[in-house]
Amino acid sequence: MVDVQLRRRKIRDERVLRAMLEIPREEFLPADVRLLAYQDDPVDIGYRQTISQPFMTALMAQCLELEGHETVLEVGAGCGYAAAVLGALAARVISIEIIPALAQRARENLRKTGRDRNVTVVRGDGSLGYPASAPYHAISVAAAAPDIPAGLLEQLKDPGRLVMPVGEWLDQELRVVWKEHGRMDYRVVTMCRFVPLRGGEGHG
Ligand code: SAH
Repeated sequence: MVDVQLRRRKIRDERVLRAMLEIPREEFLPADVRLLAYQDDPVDIGYRQTISQPFMTALMAQCLELEGHETVLEVGAGCGYAAAVLGALAARVISIEIIPALAQRARENLRKTGRDRNVTVVRGDGSLGYPASAPYHAISVAAAAPDIPAGLLEQLKDPGRLVMPVGEWLDQELRVVWKEHGRMDYRVVTMCRFVPLRGGEGHG
């Protein structure tokens, strides 16, 4: 997976590649789809949600340029895999998940793989961010909305980076936003297709 799906594409951050080599992705999948753990696509995890394609998890993590000292907010824990990857790259990760059963599953997966030391899963609506632990050096949003929720931009440190799919159901772009010296700017990394962001400021 790491050589064919990641290294041959745009993934160059050695820390990201190492994290994805080390973390057993199959342990985060429900038993009936475990055989699909290393395929080059998203996989259904129930509740009409998916675990992202490995390349997308790697690309989003790479966009954040983590060095190891950061506090990161992830919106949309799903089964907890991306949270585990971010936990290997940063000092602390808060991952917020709106579906209670998935929040619980993410917690269990992180515990059984020994990744829960610096990763906390919170049940809640991440479209409002998670003010209790804000501000964050980096924010990764795993669900798409037509706009980036204002609360998330407010909870981003200066300097800080946020990565999120922005757009409608079938037409989304992955954006990286930089906050620096009180200003914000963004670039589009790629086109993509994520599940819709739900809740307060989501539109899905
Ligand atoms: N990070 C996952 C991807 C999960 S898919 C991975 O490791 O591959 C996106 C997740 O976002 C789903 O589990 C969905 O329930 C969740 N989600 C959608 N809207 C949300 C919201 N407003 N707050 C928190 N989680 C949300």
